[in-house]
Amino acid sequence: MTTHSSNRYSVDAHTADKFYIDGRWVAPAVPASLAVINPATEEVAAQVARGSSEDVDRAVAAARAAFPGWSATPPAARAGVLGKIHELILERKEQLAQALSLEMGAAIGFARAMQVPLAAEHVRVARDLLTSYRFHTLEGSTAIEREAIGVCGLITPWNWPLYQITAKVAPAIAAGCTVVLKPSELSPLSALLFAQLVHDAGLPPGVFNLVNGSGHEVGAAMAAHPDIDMISITGSNRAGALVAQAAAPTVKRVTQELGGKSPNVLLPDADFANVVPLGVMSAFRNVGQSCSAPTRMIVPRARLAEVEALAAATANAIIVGDPSAEETVLGPIANQAQFERVQVMIEAGIDEGAKLVCGGPGRVAGFDYGFYTRPTVFSEVENRMRIAQEEIFGPVLCIIAYDTVDEAVAIANDTVYGLGAHVQGQDLQAARAVASRIRAGQVHLNHPAWDPMAPFGGYKRSGNGREYGVVGFEEYLEIKAIVGFGS
Ligand code: NAD
Repeated sequence: MTTHSSNRYSVDAHTADKFYIDGRWVAPAVPASLAVINPATEEVAAQVARGSSEDVDRAVAAARAAFPGWSATPPAARAGVLGKIHELILERKEQLAQALSLEMGAAIGFARAMQVPLAAEHVRVARDLLTSYRFHTLEGSTAIEREAIGVCGLITPWNWPLYQITAKVAPAIAAGCTVVLKPSELSPLSALLFAQLVHDAGLPPGVFNLVNGSGHEVGAAMAAHPDIDMISITGSNRAGALVAQAAAPTVKRVTQELGGKSPNVLLPDADFANVVPLGVMSAFRNVGQSCSAPTRMIVPRARLAEVEALAAATANAIIVGDPSAEETVLGPIANQAQFERVQVMIEAGIDEGAKLVCGGPGRVAGFDYGFYTRPTVFSEVENRMRIAQEEIFGPVLCIIAYDTVDEAVAIANDTVYGLGAHVQGQDLQAARAVASRIRAGQVHLNHPAWDPMAPFGGYKRSGNGREYGVVGFEEYLEIKAIVGFGS
């Protein structure tokens, strides 16, 4: 077993071939494993246990048995455990960052500065909420009680592995729910560390359970499970829709955080020298593998040449390479399927006649292995093109020209998605007016700091429900009205 105070990460043989169920590391019901590939080398980094519906049954039974006790535990005591989990994430941040870098290629500096600290923030927020949240209120003579919904199945993706886990687990257990987590089969290593950390924080057995495995086996078994009350999934639209279908017969609550094709509207008075580089870096953050990445930069036609030059200079200066190197800004794309998808989309942009400003198909020069992708900027993109309509999930930016602000808003909204959006402009009133016309769940004005309290989630096909802050926490609650309570 690794020592958990160590800063170095090596795959823990004690946990990798097991699941965390009912407070213990247990072997899968049917022995099976899956390989975790290091996207920087394309070599097998680890083998982890691969679950089946029997493992899901065991985990759900443990969560069900723990529910009465945990949901009745006073909020202050639940906050105490969350506080300990928060402390341990910060204490083990280097190990977590290294695991993330290995399993999905995050540049180590980015994993340290963003992936881990932002994940810790979801835990801190959930802990802090419990000190002030009013679970019981009175409206006239009717009491409104907010109670934990029950056993929650949590299904997470590979792009922000730990962050997506804490965004679900922390509010769920804060609310008094018990959970079964299925991390992405492509990035299960940070999840194993997280399970050990939750154990060490003293969470009672059965409150948190982890089963690794594929979406169509473990994920589908969770979605259909009669003893799971709610499923929260972050992932592709395909998986989100399948989960909703499988969940329908048992009428469980389903929240979905799915894809995006987020616009970034540069109003004519924006400070272009500042916001174009920031916009490029936001689009390419995490190698463009963020569901709310602002990948459609919508700019005044008269400024197109200036925007192209600024965007190219920014993209060309990005250091892409070995994720373990301190100076690396972007590591490889997280897995082979995603790398191939991004290549197809870059080719599609060229074939459809978009202007390739920089980057293009193929690996970054100097690499003949590893999923290293060239930061790519297209201009003269028309919003009907595939590269403007389909989620690419890689470092590919589309610059789209507009003639009037009304047209910019129409382009921004001309998408099946509605997750994130950005508006840049020095006249804040004008920027706010544009923000109010955009059909998206989270609009950022002038690149503000990340706000862990801001609700996050999508309009349209970007999903249902919200995460983060009070609104995200309330997704895990049922409402009971006790009429006549005060009469
Ligand atoms: P994915 O849909 O393949 O997988 C996501 C999770 O769902 C994984 O754990 C997977 O095993 C599981 N899954 C897959 N099929 C399933 C099924 N039939 N039943 C139950 N579970 C199933 O997505 P991905 O490739 O891991 O992630 C990339 C996608 O996720 C992108 O489309 C991206 O936009 C989206 N995403 C959205 C958000 C958000 O907050 N809206 C955040 C991150 C990623």
